[in-house]
Amino acid sequence: MIGNESPTLGAAHILVVEDNEINMELVRDILRAYGYRVGEAFNGKECLAYIEQETPNLILMDLQLPDIDGYTIVRQLRQQERFQALPIVAVTAFAMKGDREKAMAAGCTGVIIKPIDTRAFPRQVEAYLRGFTEQTQDT
Ligand code: MN
Repeated sequence: MIGNESPTLGAAHILVVEDNEINMELVRDILRAYGYRVGEAFNGKECLAYIEQETPNLILMDLQLPDIDGYTIVRQLRQQERFQALPIVAVTAFAMKGDREKAMAAGCTGVIIKPIDTRAFPRQVEAYLRGFTEQTQDT
């Protein structure tokens, strides 16, 4: 699914939801370097306010936020028609099998594990923008 070509999809619009400023800066800088338009939300409330105004092409969702947890936000978004097909990728330090399944059950399209692999990250983002969907684990 992940191509070898330069990972850029023009002016795709990505909302990054992340409360840690260092993580936000890292992700934002990488995405901008690849030409993406980046929106930022540092908590759940900012995320919900942002998407009232804008419909990004992809959301990168930290699941551990100071106010509303990311799972709850994803479930809320999936209830709205305009967000049903939107790629929403959890970005989380949780790497246990159950955590991944919990994210997928909440409606995430996939999971990227923190700390992010800065070399792989642009291709992961591109794959999700192109419609890649992580397969849910068998039971
Ligand atoms: Mn966090």
